Amino acid sequence: MSEEGSGSSSSLLPEEAFSLLGNETRFNILRALWELLDPPESRPISYSNLMGYVGVRDSGNFNYHLGKLEGHFVESTDDGYVLSDAGEQIVQTVVAGTAVEQTSMDPVHIGVICPVCHGTGTTIRYDDETLTVQCTECDGIYPSRPGKLAEFHLPPAGLAGRDPVSVFESAITRVTLETRSMIAGVCPRCASEPTVEVDWCREHEGGDSGLCDKCDTTMQSISMYLCQTCKHIWRFPIWCNVLWHPATIAFFDNHGVDIEPLSWNYYVRGREFDQELLSEDPPRLAITVPADDATLQFTFDESMTILSVERDGPDA
Ligand SMILES: [Zn+2]
Ligand SMILES: [Zn+2]
Repeated sequence: MSEEGSGSSSSLLPEEAFSLLGNETRFNILRALWELLDPPESRPISYSNLMGYVGVRDSGNFNYHLGKLEGHFVESTDDGYVLSDAGEQIVQTVVAGTAVEQTSMDPVHIGVICPVCHGTGTTIRYDDETLTVQCTECDGIYPSRPGKLAEFHLPPAGLAGRDPVSVFESAITRVTLETRSMIAGVCPRCASEPTVEVDWCREHEGGDSGLCDKCDTTMQSISMYLCQTCKHIWRFPIWCNVLWHPATIAFFDNHGVDIEPLSWNYYVRGREFDQELLSEDPPRLAITVPADDATLQFTFDESMTILSVERDGPDA
């Protein structure tokens, strides 16, 4: 039972955290605390139970490793030991990525509307923690990946016990909530404030297929959110910045548009929004949401801060 740091936690540099975790006994201690956890109960595990479970005989050695984890990934209480939030997160990340039987899924017809050709020849497949939505009837959105419509990150645990439709819905739910978190200025992985940049194709030429030779997509602009703390990077079409805005939801509601904010149909609705570079200096972007004969226009600066929201046209 280590004396130092018990109960209190102190900050750790990334290299210190890596070296703390890069030891089998220490990782086994974290795993044991997680395996012995029985939520919603959170009873601390006694020193002797923990040592027995980890299977270390030498108490001096065990004590040394446990002491290293205390105050960072493990908390000690009067009744024993529990994982700290950081310790729990580490084990959860490993569990979400590994404690699963299925880690890929062959293409399955999903039949949602393709936003490019409006057909229903859409499929999903899953590999490398990524769910890819494709259209089998058109070239999709990215010329270098024919047919590709979207790519959503999803840990393999998202597949467990779900049929393909539910897997697809889970991926959309996850990407929507993570995107909204980034837009709100909170990194969904570590809670830091991300920086924002807008990539705008100034010579965008849609052509017949909608594909632009200059930027290689049908999208004229991309918002890029980068977390400087955990290096999580998130890129999405700039219409995502207005899609779930309360003014858009209210506007759609007023015009009788189906609002299912966590659905594919709602997600691809953003492709109907107009984008315009209003001025270069200072950079001003406009995104216009259409419904019936009315429009809702958002104006942004270069950091995607909303400067104004204006409605035009008759109420429904
Ligand atoms: Zn298509
Ligand atoms: Zn982060």
